[in-house]
Amino acid sequence: MKFSWKSILLWSLPIIVISFFLWQGLFAPITSESNNNTANSRMTYGRFLEYIDMGWVKKVDLYENGHTAIIEAIGPELGNRIQKIRVELPASAPELITKLKNKQINLDAHATKNNPALWNLIGNLFFPILLIISLALLLRRSNNTPGGPGQAMSFGKSKALFQIEAKTGIIFDDVAGIDEAKEEFEEIVTFLKKPEYFTAVGAKIPKGVLLVGPPGTGKTLLAKAIAGEANVPFFSISGSEFVEMFVGVGASRVRDLFKKAKENAPCIIFIDEIDAVGRQRGTGIGGGNDEREQTLNQLLTEMDGFEGNTGIIVVAATNRADILDSALLRPGRFDRQVNVDIPDFKGRLEILEVHAKNKKIDTNVSLSIIARRTPGFSGADLANLLNEAAILTARERKDKITLQEIDKGIDRIIAGMEGTALIDSKSKRLIAYHEIGHAIVGTLLKDHENVQKVTLIPRGQAKGLTWFTPSEDQSLISRSQIKARIMGALGGRATEEIVFGDSEITTGASNDLQQVTSMARQMVTRFGMSDIGPLSLENEDSNPFLGRGMGNLNEYSDEIAIKIDKQIKKIIEDCHQKTIKIIKDNRVIIDKLVDILIEKETIDGQEFREIIKQYTKIPKKI
Ligand code: ADP
Ligand code: MG
Ligand code: ZN
Repeated sequence: MKFSWKSILLWSLPIIVISFFLWQGLFAPITSESNNNTANSRMTYGRFLEYIDMGWVKKVDLYENGHTAIIEAIGPELGNRIQKIRVELPASAPELITKLKNKQINLDAHATKNNPALWNLIGNLFFPILLIISLALLLRRSNNTPGGPGQAMSFGKSKALFQIEAKTGIIFDDVAGIDEAKEEFEEIVTFLKKPEYFTAVGAKIPKGVLLVGPPGTGKTLLAKAIAGEANVPFFSISGSEFVEMFVGVGASRVRDLFKKAKENAPCIIFIDEIDAVGRQRGTGIGGGNDEREQTLNQLLTEMDGFEGNTGIIVVAATNRADILDSALLRPGRFDRQVNVDIPDFKGRLEILEVHAKNKKIDTNVSLSIIARRTPGFSGADLANLLNEAAILTARERKDKITLQEIDKGIDRIIAGMEGTALIDSKSKRLIAYHEIGHAIVGTLLKDHENVQKVTLIPRGQAKGLTWFTPSEDQSLISRSQIKARIMGALGGRATEEIVFGDSEITTGASNDLQQVTSMARQMVTRFGMSDIGPLSLENEDSNPFLGRGMGNLNEYSDEIAIKIDKQIKKIIEDCHQKTIKIIKDNRVIIDKLVDILIEKETIDGQEFREIIKQYTKIPKKI
C-alpha cells in the first residue's frame, strides 16, 4: 500500500472539522425543533407556578431530563384558548412535581431525550467516518493505476505532477513539414525498439535529446510521436512544474519522475519548457534561486545516474537553447540537439494536408494557395487556421469549407477579431486616407510587396488595415527592400499630413512609427547599412532577466551612440521625403481610391492595381 494512515488522517482532518460544523449546523436546529414541539410562546417558571395555582394548566410534558416543560394551558392572557407554552425549569424543582400531583395535572416525562449526548456523538461521527472510509477506498483503488490521483494525493512525499500516457496514439505521419527533426527521431525509435543493434557494436545509446524551436512548431507532438512509434509509455512534465515555492520539492519531483520512469523502462521522459529549470546558474539576477539550482542539480545527477542502455530517453523542449546551463548540454546529458523551425512553404503544405484529412474541404480549395499565403505560420497556427475555418463554415451552415472561410481565418489569426465598421465620419475618412497612403506607396515602390487588400473594417487593435502579400523568402532582405518597407510604413502618416495638414495628424500612426524606427535602427546597428559602415553594434534583443543575456550591454562609446542616432534620423528623413513626394504626385488617384474605399470598405489587391493603372504606371515587382 502506497499510502499511510497518517497521510489519510492529515488529509481528512480538515474535512472532519468541516463536516462536524456542517452536521451541527444542519441538524442541531432540527433536534431542538422537536423539543419545543409546536410551542411558540414561552413563559417564566414563576408565572408557570402562578398558572398552576390558578388551575389554568391542563397538561405538562417534561423534556431534557426535566429541564424543559411544554405545558398546555388556558387563561385570559392566552385568549381563553388552550395553548402550548414552553417553560425552562430550574435545575432542582422538587416542589413542582408535588404541586402538579396535588392539582392532578396530567404529567408526562419524555425519556427520548435522556441520552442526547450519545446520539449527538454518533451523529457527528457518522459523516467523517463515512468520508474516511471512502477516501481510503479511493486512494487504494487509484494507487493501482500509475500516476493516478493516488500519486498526487500522497502527502509528505512530493506531489508528483507528471503525466503518464501509456500510449500516445501519435505516429510520425501526424507530424509533417519538419523532416530533418523527424529523421533524427526515427533513429531514436530504433534505439528504443532494437537497442541490441547498437549495444552489440559497443555503441552507447544517447540519453537526452533537446528540441529547440519556437512555440507551436510541433515539439511536443514530435516527442509523443517517438513514444507512439516505439510503443513505449510517455512521461511528461513541464519545467515550470518543477519549480516550487519550497526548496527541495522540485528536486524530489525529479527523483520521483526518474524512479517511476525506471520502473517503466523503456520509455520516454519529456520535459517541456526545460529553460524554466535549466537556465544558466549563478547569474544572480533577481536573487539566486536555490530551489531552481537544486532541481537542476538533481536533474543532472539523475541523468548521470542511469546507464545509457536502460531504455530511457529524455526529450526536452525549449525555445531558447542559448540560455540553458552548459552543464545540461554536456555529452552524456542532452548531447543531441534537434532544431525545429517555423515551416517553409513545403512544410506548411504538408502540415495543412495532415490537418485537412479529417475536414470537409471544398474541392476547388487548393491547399498550396493557403500555404503560399501563410509564411511565418507555425504548425499550431495552421492547425488553428483550418479549425477556425471549419467553425466559420459550421456557423454559416455550409457543408464544406471554402476559400472564403479560410481567408477569414487567416485574417483573424494575423490581425485579431473583426470589429464592426465605422460609420461615416471625419475619422473614417482620415483612416481611409491613411490606409490608402500605405497601399499606394507599397504599390508604387519596386521593392515593396504587393498589396493584397485594403480594408476599413477594424480588426484587433487596428481601425483599418492594409495587407501585403508576404514574400516567401524572408531570410535575406536587401537594403532597398528595408527602405521600401520603411517608406510603406511612413505612407499612412505622410498622407495624413498632406491631406489634412500638420495640425490634424493623429495618434493612429504610432505603431507604424515604432516599426519605422526599429527597422532604421537595425539597419545602422545590426546590418551595417549606414554611413557608419559594416559594424555590428547591437545584438538581437535578449532578455536581460534570463541567464547569459546579462553581458549584453551596448559596447560602444557615447560618441558612436550620437552617430547612430544621427544615422537613424538621416535614413528616416530621407525615406519620409521620398514618401511625401509619392503622395503628392499621386494625390488625384489617392482621392479617387479613398472614395471607393469608403463606399466599399474593402478593396482587394487586383482591383486596387487596376484602378491605379488607369492613372500611372506600376513598376514590375521583383
Ligand atoms: P510545441 O510543443 O512546439 O509548442 P505542439 O507540438 O504542442 O507545439 O503543437 C501544437 C499543435 O500544433 C499540435 O498538436 C498539432 O496539431 C499542430 N502542429 C504543430 N506542428 C505540427 C507539425 N509539424 N505537423 C502537424 N501538426 C503540427
Ligand atoms: Mg509544447
Ligand atoms: Zn498605418
